[in-house]
Amino acid sequence: MLESINMVESNWHSLPPDEVLKKLDTASSGLSRVEAKKRLEQYGPNALAEKPGKPLWLVFLSQFANPLVYVLFAAAAISIFTGHGVDTLTIFGVLLVNAVIGYIQETRAEKAMAALKEMTAPQANVRRDGRLHVIPARELVPGDIIILAAGDRVPADARLMQVNGLESNESALTGESETVKKSLPPLSADATLGDRTNLIFQGTSVTKGQGEAVVVATGMATELGRIAGSLEEIPQERTPLQKNIARLSTTLVIILLGVCALILAAGLIRGLGLTDMVLFAVAAAVSAIPEGLPAVVTVVLAIGMRIMANRHAIIRRLVAVETLGSATVICSDKTGTLTINQMTLRKLFLDGRSLEVTGEGYRPEGEFKEGRRTVEIAKDEALIKILRVGVLANDASITTGAECCEIFGDPTEAALLVAAAKAGITKNELEKSEPRLDELPFSSELQYMAALNAGADNHRTVNLKGAAEKVLDMCKLIWRDGKAVKLDAAARNQVTQEIESMAASGLRVLALASAELDNSGADFGGLSFEDGLVFIGLVGIADPPRPEARDAVALAKGAGIRVIMITGDHVSTAKAIAKQVGIDGEQALTGAELSAMDEADFTRSVEKISVYARIEPLQKLRIVKTLKSRGEVVAVTGDGVNDAPALKAADIGVAMGKSGTDVAREAADMVLTDDNFTSVVAAVEEGRGIFNRLRSVFYYLLASNIGELLALAAAIAIIGEAPLLAVQILWVNVVTDATLTVPLALEPRRGDELDGPPRSPDVGLLYPGMAWRIGYTAAIMGTAVFGIFWWGLQHETIEQARTLAFCTIVSFELFKGFVARTDDKPVLRIGLFSNRWFLLALGIAVLLQLAAVYLPFMQAAFHTAPPSLTDWLIILGAGLSIFVIEELRKQFFPDLFSKGKWRKGS
Ligand code: ATP
Repeated sequence: MLESINMVESNWHSLPPDEVLKKLDTASSGLSRVEAKKRLEQYGPNALAEKPGKPLWLVFLSQFANPLVYVLFAAAAISIFTGHGVDTLTIFGVLLVNAVIGYIQETRAEKAMAALKEMTAPQANVRRDGRLHVIPARELVPGDIIILAAGDRVPADARLMQVNGLESNESALTGESETVKKSLPPLSADATLGDRTNLIFQGTSVTKGQGEAVVVATGMATELGRIAGSLEEIPQERTPLQKNIARLSTTLVIILLGVCALILAAGLIRGLGLTDMVLFAVAAAVSAIPEGLPAVVTVVLAIGMRIMANRHAIIRRLVAVETLGSATVICSDKTGTLTINQMTLRKLFLDGRSLEVTGEGYRPEGEFKEGRRTVEIAKDEALIKILRVGVLANDASITTGAECCEIFGDPTEAALLVAAAKAGITKNELEKSEPRLDELPFSSELQYMAALNAGADNHRTVNLKGAAEKVLDMCKLIWRDGKAVKLDAAARNQVTQEIESMAASGLRVLALASAELDNSGADFGGLSFEDGLVFIGLVGIADPPRPEARDAVALAKGAGIRVIMITGDHVSTAKAIAKQVGIDGEQALTGAELSAMDEADFTRSVEKISVYARIEPLQKLRIVKTLKSRGEVVAVTGDGVNDAPALKAADIGVAMGKSGTDVAREAADMVLTDDNFTSVVAAVEEGRGIFNRLRSVFYYLLASNIGELLALAAAIAIIGEAPLLAVQILWVNVVTDATLTVPLALEPRRGDELDGPPRSPDVGLLYPGMAWRIGYTAAIMGTAVFGIFWWGLQHETIEQARTLAFCTIVSFELFKGFVARTDDKPVLRIGLFSNRWFLLALGIAVLLQLAAVYLPFMQAAFHTAPPSLTDWLIILGAGLSIFVIEELRKQFFPDLFSKGKWRKGS
């Protein structure tokens, strides 16, 4: 057993692969599981040390670092100096409640973020005990054999043992943006980091090709670990909405302080005492300032993120939560996103004949049929040939025996292995007699992949498969009646028609070809094989649409969102699948047609085209950019390494969590854990819900605070008497603002989020309709409280009149809580009791208010007198009135304050 690996050994690049394996006491079949476990204990997890987070006490203290809170501190100071102990205590109470709520919200939001990070933690493909496994990258140990492919983030430092056109981007490490071609031979010991081309380093990414390597260093012992020292926390950027709120808060503070100054002036003119008036104005300011707003925005976004994660969409950048709500276009991949990505080979076309294949899924059981006749495989040379090519030009594997039939690798390739297995042809057997010498890996640009295999007598064969018309174009020969003959126009026509017909029925069509070479080259370097390439036949692979995709597309359409399919597949296959899921595929555009279009032409047609086929990743970028230039808010899905630019350019880049590459995931704003189109629509729905919630909270805080200020200002200016004492004003703030805003932020999804067009991205929380609504409800409240106080003064003692005004304000604000829950739907219709948190908070608020007017010590502190029955009727009637008025308004004029003001296209 290996005693200890010198983790700081830095000469791995100067040793040949075998010696590296020996030194690390491992083999190309990998470590055993037991040994890997031992080494994990010995070397620790493969992770960079994280910087310790902010200590909790600092999180708590930072709740006070907010301009709104400074004003409150100033108010507390004034109340101390003017000898109003109760007020001071109440202000500190308000501050404390706020800080505690803010603290809980922030720590929970951080936990939610950490949990989400965990869910997208990087994985590694590793060979252990001779078998391939996908494990969390944290569990890699020195001596592990890792398998790398284009798009992978390299999980540890490793010495390459096999390369297939492998290139990597090492800018994270060396700052050099040119990709580095990787190789195998040992290098001079003094080669610098950038020149150690036979090593691959943690934190860099594979841009091309494939490779296999043995891990030589993990965690902090890697080059990245040594350079970075520790993983820097990525500062959480603030979203436009959060910035908007911050700006709005400052403006509000200025306006509200201005109003309070006017109240102070009015009081002084009316001859009220200076100290009392100062305190009163300060209390008014304290209660008018929506100090809880920034914290509520954070909590709404954080809760929204958690709900989205439960619905399979993990947010990587908070801003996406907001942008999703205004998405107008979703560009979706076809394969795996709109379809289930379970590939079954259904049809073959070879030697001028069409065959059907029976059997379901990846189970290698089924028959080959020609018409009604079952084909005798052993006698069908052409069938055996096409199946063999499909197996040799293949990087996937399927498990057999007891653990049948799990696939590893690309499902398209797995489908070929399964079909061959139905004929008794297996990859293991075949590669024993014809070992693979080299490979041209598949890329979306090439649209094909090829393997070079060794045959008998130093013969070599090239086995190639790829997009049907592409392969057909490459071939000059075709396999007919047991030999290669010239591929003439008639045969070409026949194949083209067959491609069309298979694709039009929704099948994914691949062509297979091979070339016999009699030279003895061991790799593709400089090898010319195209002249000898023989077209063998076509395969038609079924990948049915996801059953739920059709509904999701319809939902998106109903929500004013266009769904566009962008695929690398054949145009007819794309159209057929588009039709099945309800996307309009009439005007499909192919990559070649797109290349021929100038930008002006394309800009004109972009609004009409919903299916793009045979698209290369860079063209995806062009589509996204053009859509954005038309003012669309674009969500785009992607999985490959070359999709990263399009994902970055989109308003919302969506990467596939299961089948996507690390590079795509890192470029994305959101990752789907189930690769399912439906989850994008669900995330849009949540995004809209989040915005609704924020609007409710915002409306509630402003309408209540402004209503209250109006009542205070009117009473002082017109009657010359303060309707509430300073301490009562502060209390109102605790009972209503502090208790009800968080439950409003927890309002459940209403189910109608996807009913209308998207929100215009230029509109923040406050838009003209909302301002009008705030204005009119605040005016009703202000006038009513003023009137009731005036009535009280005529009929009751000043204490009773104040208690009446005090309770009326609270009543208004509690009923307004209900009102705030929707802006266009009667609350009775969405369910009076559907927000349990809100009801609970309401109950607490009512109890607190009753305590303030009935408990003797509270009566003394708040200068209250128990209201009479008439008072209670007035109090409740007043609050109820705003509820009834708004319910009627929502019933008969639901769009009075929303339509035409904030939605896209209005
Ligand atoms: P989408 O963009 O919707 O995911 P896609 O998977 O068809 O679609 P690509 O991966 O770019 O897009 O593939 C383009 C074409 O290349 C496919 O339609 C198919 O004909 C061919 N192809 C796909 N995978 C392979 C493969 N492993 N080997 C050879 N050819 C392939």
